[in-house]
Amino acid sequence: MDSPVSTQPKLLSQLNERAVLRVLQANGPSSRAEVTRLAGVTRPTVSKAVASLLKSGLLEEFDAPENGRGRPARKLRLGGATSQVIGLVIDSPTCRIVTAGLDGSLRPQTQREFDTPDIYEELVATVIDHIAALSSDDTITTLGAGISLPGLFDYREGRSILSPNVPVTNDRCLAHDIAEQLGLECAVLQESDALCLAERHFGLAADLGDFAMLDASTGIGLGVLINGRLLKGSSGLAGEIGHLPIVPDGIKCGCGRSGCLETVASDTALARLVSHRVGQDLDIEQIVELVQAGELTVTAELEQVSQQLVFALVTTVNLFNPQRLFVHSRMFDLDDTLLGRLIERTESISLAPSFRDCRIERARGSKREGAIAGIIEHLTDSRVSSARPPFQNETQT
Ligand SMILES: [Zn+2]
Repeated sequence: MDSPVSTQPKLLSQLNERAVLRVLQANGPSSRAEVTRLAGVTRPTVSKAVASLLKSGLLEEFDAPENGRGRPARKLRLGGATSQVIGLVIDSPTCRIVTAGLDGSLRPQTQREFDTPDIYEELVATVIDHIAALSSDDTITTLGAGISLPGLFDYREGRSILSPNVPVTNDRCLAHDIAEQLGLECAVLQESDALCLAERHFGLAADLGDFAMLDASTGIGLGVLINGRLLKGSSGLAGEIGHLPIVPDGIKCGCGRSGCLETVASDTALARLVSHRVGQDLDIEQIVELVQAGELTVTAELEQVSQQLVFALVTTVNLFNPQRLFVHSRMFDLDDTLLGRLIERTESISLAPSFRDCRIERARGSKREGAIAGIIEHLTDSRVSSARPPFQNETQT
């Protein structure tokens, strides 16, 4: 019964399984007939691929009501009830971890948070403890973990190079170390790229092939999607707009230089200014809470930071000519008029034709959604195989 083991049939079944998964990712729950038509392969091929994917937990079959006729039809969807993926966001001062179905449905009730440790081994051990706790239900198979990482990240080596805000990861291969200890598939994404994927899978960029994501939260990063592909640069370092030097003799940046854009135009920059004025260390979350409760006003600081942020917006519009420019920041929660003012100022100093073609919006996606989207893309695109157990180690992307 077993077919002889050889490379080519294995590769073929992987490609067929990938085609089935892509159809379900793009079209949502579908019948076998619909999958067959959309994947452009034969029915027996689809049956074989589906059987293997059902067995591995990547797919589920369920009864869906047929359009008004009351007769349920068997449909396929990406695994949700019996399998899960994990999304991990490494950030400062807090890391977050959450589970989701393979269809991307987040389970917010599973979210856990922990203070970012200063010691690398402690960070790995803490992450592993949380993943183990989130995987303790024997009826649910954990298929992999996606990790959003701040700072400069070398995708070729899977190594963090320089993380000004979370230096504990510098020169470390976090995804590899977690994968090795847990025997779990891991995919890692630089956080701006994670936000791009989040916007595409969960936010406003589902149909966009060209867009940019400016992350002005902890630091300042830029993710750019061109023709549907993330711009990475030769070693994955593209988009480090946050370290453009714009303030001569400015304050020291985590990258080692001074006066970088992210020291004056991010959520962290705002928090620093406000903390200085009130004489108390406040992070952006606390500031948002206080402002929304009417206990603090930050008008002057917000004005100062947003003037600098405009420089990042103009640079992005002029350099990349995106269809859409998303901005990720908690500063929008401090003032409803902020986005409008940023757009107006950007229009007044960017290249007119580039601005005309670009809509600037607040990002909807989050880094945890990006981490989830990253591992789902990784699992459904690069390693689908009926020949291997779901937990087998593999080099992360
Ligand atoms: Zn810097």
